[in-house]
Amino acid sequence: MSAERTDVLVVGAGQAGLAMSAHLARAGVPHLVLERARIAESWRTGRWDSLVANGPAWHDRFPDKTFPGDPDGFPGKDEVADYMEAFATEISAPVRTGVEVTQVRSLEGRPGFLCETSAGTVEAGAVVAATGAFQTPVIPPLVPPGAAGSTTPIQIHSAEYRNPGQLPEGAVLVVGAGSSGVQIAEELLSAGRRVYLSVGPHDRPPRRYRGRDFVWWLGVLNKWDMEATPGADHVTIAVSGAHGGRTIDFRDLAARGMILVGRTESYGEGALRFAPDLARNIARGDASYLGLLREADAHVAQNGLDLPPEPEAHELGPMPTCAEEPILSLDLAGAGIGTILWATGYSRDYGWLPAGATDADGAPRHNRGVSAEPGIYYLGLPWQTRRGSSFIWGVWFDAGYVADHIVKQRGYAAYRPAAG
Ligand SMILES: Cc1cc2nc3c(=O)[nH]c(=O)nc-3n(C[C@H](O)[C@H](O)[C@H](O)COP(=O)(O)OP(=O)(O)OC[C@H]3O[C@@H](n4cnc5c(N)ncnc54)[C@H](O)[C@@H]3O)c2cc1C
Repeated sequence: MSAERTDVLVVGAGQAGLAMSAHLARAGVPHLVLERARIAESWRTGRWDSLVANGPAWHDRFPDKTFPGDPDGFPGKDEVADYMEAFATEISAPVRTGVEVTQVRSLEGRPGFLCETSAGTVEAGAVVAATGAFQTPVIPPLVPPGAAGSTTPIQIHSAEYRNPGQLPEGAVLVVGAGSSGVQIAEELLSAGRRVYLSVGPHDRPPRRYRGRDFVWWLGVLNKWDMEATPGADHVTIAVSGAHGGRTIDFRDLAARGMILVGRTESYGEGALRFAPDLARNIARGDASYLGLLREADAHVAQNGLDLPPEPEAHELGPMPTCAEEPILSLDLAGAGIGTILWATGYSRDYGWLPAGATDADGAPRHNRGVSAEPGIYYLGLPWQTRRGSSFIWGVWFDAGYVADHIVKQRGYAAYRPAAG
């Protein structure tokens, strides 16, 4: 049986795959989007129940489509999924759901790829991997199963967390204080749990300053477009749209009874050990917070903007006691830890792409999404071109770049010398 043929195969129908489809359609490039589950499945089922977008609706969206409802509100995860589905319908995206792409191989002796899927074979001129920045949950292999004897805590990743009622009784140690870790820890604290939060290096922007959300400040200060610095260590950002959007403040969490500890380092004899870096990590987050306030003030002054001054935002209280006298070791049974919740990020799996598209560690080899393997593209990678790349508003622009590249290459491929 001959394979189905398409010019471009887009793999994945999250925001990246849909943005790609929109740009290819505009350029008149025939394409097919294959999605192993449903449109925006990660937003639908891969997040905890109460998750809302980190940015307000006016900002966390595609340029072409507004969210229904309050533009300054923070849409829930299902509203984001609904938005993506509606967008796919509006642009008549050629999405086929329930089809997994399992292997992509280069054709021999001619350009293009043979793509194995759960529903047959597709031949494609180019392939865009839009399979998500956050694919495989990573739990560091620190705590062995059966640790702490008869009181062994369960270990789950933030990707599996749904709500406080899902966790067994007892205290919870949340490892990782990026946006996921800190939001989940706060939800558990509010539900009456005793919560330990392991805080590593992070940035924490003010949610709002001088009447503007931080997404606006990052925009006018040109920080969303900040490009990736090769080899740079990009720290996690602690931000939340929960409860109408509030600044993440570790002092406030400690004052409410959350026990903060430093970076989780090792395990032995029933106890987890933490680096003595809690005060340093909080201070680093404070520095990023205060730095943004200062840049915002300079921008207001430079441009003569009429935004109300907010001097009190610059006043931070003293370091919490738990940072001055940090806990360096936690006996899991003694502390009654019923759950260790790892908010420690994700790895990726591109083993299904031709070998030339990845390096020896399986990481994408690419420049701005254009892979080292001609005809293979990536979309939605963290810092693919800039800070905003893996977010809803940023992926749109990267999709434009990738589509342009595809169109350019089609032009070269179609070129024939004028007869004469
Ligand atoms: C907890 C959390 C909160 C976030 N909050 C925000 C936020 O508020 N605002 C924001 O802008 N960003 C946010 N992000 C970041 C980012 O916007 C999301 O992760 C988003 O889902 C990424 O979109 P994507 O299209 O790149 O990947 P995904 O949404 O993961 O889409 C990839 C799709 O590919 C499919 N797929 C994977 N492999 C295959 C295959 N082999 N064959 C066929 N289909 C396949 C998957 O089923 C999936 O539907 C958040 C991320 C996380 C983890």
